[in-house]
Amino acid sequence: MPSHVTTTRHWKTTVAQYQHEMAWVSQRLADVLKQAWNNDGEFSGSAPFLGVDSSPQWMKETLQRCDGSPFHRQWLEKCLNILKNTLPQAVLGQLAEIESERSAIACHQCGVCCRLASQDEDYETLLAKASGGDTFAQEFTRVFLPYETRQHAENRFPELVAALQAEVGEERPLHFYHCPYVGQDNRCTVYGTAKRPAFCGTYPETPLSAIQPNCAWKPWQGEQHTITLQCHATLVLCEAWHEHISETLSC
Ligand code: SF4
Ligand code: SF4
Repeated sequence: MPSHVTTTRHWKTTVAQYQHEMAWVSQRLADVLKQAWNNDGEFSGSAPFLGVDSSPQWMKETLQRCDGSPFHRQWLEKCLNILKNTLPQAVLGQLAEIESERSAIACHQCGVCCRLASQDEDYETLLAKASGGDTFAQEFTRVFLPYETRQHAENRFPELVAALQAEVGEERPLHFYHCPYVGQDNRCTVYGTAKRPAFCGTYPETPLSAIQPNCAWKPWQGEQHTITLQCHATLVLCEAWHEHISETLSC
């Protein structure tokens, strides 16, 4: 995965949602590459696309149909440029706009995100990942502690636990955590110290984070969630398809 793509461990989106957007993007991407063929008068014949689905396998099969002619090679070189430069630049520009909207929003300082954080992994798994060098897990376990049981989290935040779980779907049971460093006034008692994880200062860094319904960033998430998923899917697919085409051209 490219370094500019937020890792999925920060995402709280359903697998079905992601697959849906991935398939949608894959088809749009195929249209763009086909357009690169159709727009060039030098090319004759039909592009070697027989069908489109959402998997890189589709691109592999398409490439197998290329006959190595100069026409195909020129088209593939155009595709490479689109996948490496044109599309990623446009997508990163769009993500930067979304990020700049994020930074204009003021936190309500309700402290809920410190008292009810959710992760896909249980505490033992996060600790194991932290020992293995995972920097996010290291930062997270530096401050967050697990609720003794899920029932304890539900007793404290019944509606929010249900809302966060509903956001990702019941098939992905979440684990809930709380940070002991949030003060009664909702302020961070380790603010400005090395103890405070970097992600606390950037939460929610993407509309793909789990955001409780009353968070100041919830409306922003509502507006930008789908487009952000599509942006991330585009970056992932551009990189995967670029790799397949590069391999074909070097044959
Ligand atoms: S370290 Fe501070 S900002 Fe981060 S979760 Fe704890 S109290 Fe909240
Ligand atoms: S839940 Fe949202 S509004 Fe409340 S403190 Fe966290 S970031 Fe701010």
